[in-house]
Amino acid sequence: MSAVGTKRLGIIGDPVEHSISPAMQQPALDELGLPIRYERWHTPLAELPARIDSLRSNDVLGANVTVPHKQAVIELIDEVSPLAQAAGAVNTIVNRDGRLFGDNTDVYGFRLSLTGTIADASTRNAVILGAGGASRAVVLALHEIGVPKLTIVNRRPERAEQLIAELGSTAVVAAEPGDVLADAGILINATSLGWHRGELPLAADLLDRLPAGALVVDLTYRDTDLIEAARERGIATLDGLGMLVFQGVLAFERFTGQWPSLDVMWSAARAARAPRV
Ligand code: NDP
Repeated sequence: MSAVGTKRLGIIGDPVEHSISPAMQQPALDELGLPIRYERWHTPLAELPARIDSLRSNDVLGANVTVPHKQAVIELIDEVSPLAQAAGAVNTIVNRDGRLFGDNTDVYGFRLSLTGTIADASTRNAVILGAGGASRAVVLALHEIGVPKLTIVNRRPERAEQLIAELGSTAVVAAEPGDVLADAGILINATSLGWHRGELPLAADLLDRLPAGALVVDLTYRDTDLIEAARERGIATLDGLGMLVFQGVLAFERFTGQWPSLDVMWSAARAARAPRV
């Protein structure tokens, strides 16, 4: 039960214990004096339909959705934005008087994080490692930015081919990252390799093939072996915290109709992310 007048938001996933979203959203809600509580809603797959149904309650404003449910929720809600439809993933659900509207704010999150870091992203070729859900958001964002050439490298190349076909993308697939780095102004790790020490999505010495002035991006939201290897070579880097913060900023606006303080969300996210051990 919530206090009278208090509304609720939450993050749906399995697991959700380590999610930064509550730590980032709650201070921003409080700063605006909004009587809204942001909760963790751990939801195994078998409980997903009931959880989604519970969002129709009039004390719930909506939810963020994380791994592994971003695709599965599409079938359970009433309406999906064209962008979320294209991405094949919903990470934000808004309760509109009992009807559930799904959106994707990861695309915006990645786009803002990248364009806030380098002004000339639209003139650089990009290479993406990975072809999962995060890669889809990155591909859509890079098309929005207008990068001239996009190459995807994935462990299972057929998954990259499928992604390109489903998104109607002009990206191409390469078998080996080493073959395509020489003209890559942006290299993005969108694989799940990076969270743990010893995980590298490509051999570190391949980074020497990148052109001068390249940017190495890792969607993991803290330092990774890839980020460290790039830094050691004097290559500019960007981790995934900015994407996480900006997707949260847009989700906040979708839920409340107000923009949060970027400073509050940034500093809360920085404080909440797990240190590298
Ligand atoms: P998915 O499970 O959808 O995709 C995983 C990708 O990693 C696939 O391309 C997969 O290849 C590849 N992969 C996994 N294991 C290996 C391996 N051992 N060797 C080579 N490739 C491997 O995950 P997501 O796309 O949802 O997430 C990817 C990363 O992005 C995660 O680290 C996640 O935390 C991060 N992320 C960050 C966000 C942010 O806001 N910063 C937002 C969303 C995600 P294959 O297809 O061959 O299996």
